Amino acid sequence: MVIIMKPTASEQEITFVINYIKRNYDLRIDTITGEFQTIIGLIGEENQVDFELLELLPGVERAHRIQTPYKLVSRSYHSADHIIDVKGVRIGGSSRPIFIAGPCSIESKEQLLQIAAQIKSAGADILRGGAFKPRSSVHSFQGLGEKGLELLARAGEEHGMPTITEVRGETQVEMVAKYADILQIGARNMYNQDLIESVARQHKPILLKRHFGAGFDELLNFSERAIAEGNRDVILCERGLIPVGKGRQHTRYMLDLSIVPLTKIESYLPVIVDPSHATGRRDLVLSMSLAAIAAGAHGIMVEVHHQPEKALSDGPQMIRPSELQHLISTSLNIYQHITKET
Ligand code: PEP
Ligand code: MN
Repeated sequence: MVIIMKPTASEQEITFVINYIKRNYDLRIDTITGEFQTIIGLIGEENQVDFELLELLPGVERAHRIQTPYKLVSRSYHSADHIIDVKGVRIGGSSRPIFIAGPCSIESKEQLLQIAAQIKSAGADILRGGAFKPRSSVHSFQGLGEKGLELLARAGEEHGMPTITEVRGETQVEMVAKYADILQIGARNMYNQDLIESVARQHKPILLKRHFGAGFDELLNFSERAIAEGNRDVILCERGLIPVGKGRQHTRYMLDLSIVPLTKIESYLPVIVDPSHATGRRDLVLSMSLAAIAAGAHGIMVEVHHQPEKALSDGPQMIRPSELQHLISTSLNIYQHITKET
């Protein structure tokens, strides 16, 4: 539900409408103050609302339902691209694609500082690294926890890169927010509404990965929970769906690139692609990254290790820093080409 105020609406009229909603309905409010107009989004059960009545309030131009299942992330609610600025790195809209790189897991100080230095000179914008790893087996390496977060913050600072890491569960939200610049919600947790809401309340940018079985509507619906908590800085990430049939034989997951242009049509949020988890194979990461950029992705998140054969997790899919350099420069060439064409 959306109430579009007239361009001439005064502050008093806007406040009046907001107070009217609060007094009469059990709804939360999201306000977008644009250059010309204020838009008021209503969050909650919409059947209680009398739209015709709302249109009679002072300063209101129009009040209507949004037809899609997702509302606050929809272009019909907010048409302009949302650009997220993380310590000077701009993500979204027509900004050039950004490159998030780093190891699957933070393993040691030496490992992380070495990789951070190398990805920085390869042209990466943001440093990634897992400290709380989602692992199927309790016998696998689970990550260094808070010690890993400290190393991540230090490596990011030393090499002038914002950082991103996964928040695996609600108990870690505040701790991770203390160290990292972007809070990642992993594919397994895309449906975890309490985690999304509690991460959103940290008021830091969020990277929400698509669950490997999730529909597009579901991804947008769950991202909307962050916006309902007052945090619009959500980056969506495609990382592949569960392969079906014989698809299982050659890649870890199946990359669904159609979601990139689709997101850009339907929503104003930035969308990036993770070709590493999507393929599970380092020899496919470059081509899938270039395809993602050609499809219009706002960025790529790629796993990089200086010695992938010795890595404690996801070794087979991690590329080397020298390969990252080629990936970034070729991606930027493609980006320049497609932006010139359009
Ligand atoms: C990751 O990016 O570290 C990760 C575990 O990815 P996903 O949640 O997509 O499996
Ligand atoms: Mn990984």
